[in-house]
Order: sequence, then C-alpha cells, then structure tokens
Amino acid sequence: MERKIGAKLRMEKPMEPQGAKRGAGEMKDGATGGPPKRARPAPSLPTDASLYAGPFPFYRRPSELGCFSLDSERRYHGDSRALRYFAPPPAHGSAPDFDLREGYPERYRPRDEETREGLDHLLRWLLEHRGQLEGGPGWLAGAVVTWRGHLTKLLTTPYELREGWQLAASRLQGTLYLSEVETPAARAQRLARPPLLRELMYMGYKFEQYMCADTPGGSPDPSGEVNTNVAFCSVLRSRLGTHPLLFSGEVDCTDPKAPSTQPPACYVELKTSKEMHSPGQWRSFYRHKLLKWWAQSFLPGVPRVVAGFRDPEGSIRSLRTFPTMEMFELIRSYREGWNPSVCMNFCAAFLSFAQSTVTQDDPRLVHLFSWEPGGPVTVSIHHDAPYAFLPTWYVDAVTQDFPSPAKTPCPGN
Ligand code: GDP
Ligand code: MG
Repeated sequence: MERKIGAKLRMEKPMEPQGAKRGAGEMKDGATGGPPKRARPAPSLPTDASLYAGPFPFYRRPSELGCFSLDSERRYHGDSRALRYFAPPPAHGSAPDFDLREGYPERYRPRDEETREGLDHLLRWLLEHRGQLEGGPGWLAGAVVTWRGHLTKLLTTPYELREGWQLAASRLQGTLYLSEVETPAARAQRLARPPLLRELMYMGYKFEQYMCADTPGGSPDPSGEVNTNVAFCSVLRSRLGTHPLLFSGEVDCTDPKAPSTQPPACYVELKTSKEMHSPGQWRSFYRHKLLKWWAQSFLPGVPRVVAGFRDPEGSIRSLRTFPTMEMFELIRSYREGWNPSVCMNFCAAFLSFAQSTVTQDDPRLVHLFSWEPGGPVTVSIHHDAPYAFLPTWYVDAVTQDFPSPAKTPCPGN
C-alpha cells in the first residue's frame, strides 16, 4: 500500500507552498505515510508531527469539476446562484469601519445544526455528474470522496492540541467515502455554546456581507439578513501522493478583477480576527489561526485569504490579504511553528491507512476513525445506524447502474 510520494509525479502540475523544501526533511520511519508494514493492517496511526517531517508530498493542482448552491432554505441547486462577488472598499480610501454586530440577533437566520447532512449534497452532485467525470472510467473507483472541511481537520491534526475528530468511512464500488461524525464533546460544546460565541459566529458571516456583492461590479448590501443556510460549493479534483481526491468546499466569493478568472484561482476566502497590537499576538496568530486558514485554502487552491481585523467593539478597523502560498513564510522563522509538509504527509498517511483498513465494499459497513489529541488514530467497526451515512437513494442509483459482480445490491440505511 505504501508508496513513495513526491518526486516522480511532478508532471501533473503539483502545488507546494513557498519555502517548503522538497527533500530537505529527514526521512523517518513512516514519514511518507501508510501504516507500518505488517501482514495485517495496523490498528492505529500515530499523529506525532516528528513522524511526518519528510519532503513535501505530491499534491496535484486542484481543478474545479463543477459547483452547486444551497439556498436560504438549504435546498440544493446544481448551479452557481449562491456565488457572491468580491467587492472590497477602495484600497486607498479611509480605513473600513464595518460594524459586525449590526443586525444581531434580529437579522440572523442560522442554519439548523441538528440536521445531519453528511455528504448528501456532494453525493447529489456526484450522482448527476459521475458520467462525465474526467480522469477515465476507473477514476472514481480509486478516489476518496469527502468535504474539504474534513481534509482540513486531517491536515491540522499533528498540531491540534484541543479538539479531536471522528471520521466515518465506507467503501462503495471502489470509492472510499469519508464523512465526519460530531464527537460527543463537540456536540456538548455546541449545545452549550455561550451567547458571545454565537455572536462571534454571526460576525464572521456579517463580514462576508460587507465584502461581497450579488453581481460582478455591484456593491455590498448589508441591510439584508444573514442566512447561513445559503452556500456556494465548489467541487474539486486533486491528488495527494497516490490518492485521487474528489471533494467539495464552501467558497465565500469570486473576485471579478482577479488576474485569472478561472476557478479556483479567482476565489477569495474571507476571515475575521481580533486586532493585534504586539509581536507576541502576531506570533500566536501565525502559529494557530494561520495554520487553519492555510490548510482550508491550500486544499482547494484558493489563492488568497482576505482578513478583517476587528476591535473589541466588533468593528473591522483594517484589512489584510494573505496569499495562501506565502502563509508558511510568516511562521517559518519561529521555532514552534507548523510545517505544511507535516500536514500533507500526515494526511497522505491517513488516507493510506484508511484505504488499507476499509477492505470490504459495503455501504452499510462503517469503519469509524477516531482521534483525540495526544493519542493515535484508532478504528472501530459498525453496521448500519447510526454510523452508516451513504443514503439509500445514492446507493440504489449507483448499484442499479453498475451492479457489482460479486454481490447483490443491498439496501442502504
Ligand atoms: P469548512 O471548510 O469547514 O467551511 O467546510 P466545507 O467547506 O467543507 O463545507 C462542507 C459543507 O458543510 C457545506 O455544505 C457547508 O455549508 C457545511 N458546513 C460548513 N461548516 C459547517 C458547520 O460548522 N456546521 C454545519 N452543520 N455545516 C457546516
Ligand atoms: Mg470564510
């Protein structure tokens, strides 16, 4: 299962962050990913950063296969109707003064977080487009299908000290599907979310409203409501090492003035953060927040993150653009920083681990990968509810078209 990732596969337009030296790291046991070589699959996968400090692995330049939109009632549309247009204030005008608390709570329509969507929207897109996928007829069978957000969590795992995760995995017609399961701790935290945190979440979306227009060249309209059901999602193809990837991620906006109008190069990710006043605050920001921003935008090839820095009253006082490929430069000189190679090597190792662990093709069988900070990734096996996540409508549709020769199609959950 384990293969050397990198060097030889460079023809296919790889991406690597500036300053991430190929071949500069020391190769340690397990550094290129994959479980230890034994007769049986390893029961667990270590996550220590020191084990993954090899050279930056191959990562194919992500290409957009398509997109879909979710409307204000969370209904799926196979088009870009929810895409918004980057409309920042004039660069040389006065400093911005966006009041992010304006409209809260009366104009806030938060998405219902109790609804477990799993991969459903992405599966709907895939069902409607799998006949036209590039990469040849067998491509999807060898791929991993998931949300970008799940991959982001894998990338940051070697550096994460607080929040664990659980990923459910099922194989269907060769394809490995990964869908996150909310951990009991995350659920408890969400249900007990302090009002201040709830308002902070609103403020992040409100910033998007101040920075985006509904039409190219239009002006933002902050008078409407903030409805977090609405989403524009890009569906992307990439490959990490030997692992073909098909994933989708929510995109904040596209820049009609971007040098390249081709997605994902025209996409912009918007973020807010507290204003910083001391070198120590900047250092902590680079070490913790910038890692998450980098992982989230690097995966889909979104080239820049535009950050708004807010004062204690919740007003944006300054804007700064962080080019994704330059983020690592900002942390490189610090001893206790993060390293993109570690993130990507760990992710590749996890994918190898998952591919070799989930050997049975059965949509009702779930291998649940669980991780808590300080420990390794462990696996447990489950059948049907509550962990099975591939919906019947999807399983039935794909097994009717291409019944697998070895077994009769089985009903999903
Ligand atoms: P992100 O990278 O964490 O923002 O997540 P993705 O871009 O991969 O989003 C995948 C899907 O999950 C999209 O339909 C999003 O609207 C949805 N989503 C993103 N964040 C959250 C969240 O915090 N809670 C819930 N319930 N859904 C989310
Ligand atoms: Mg954002």
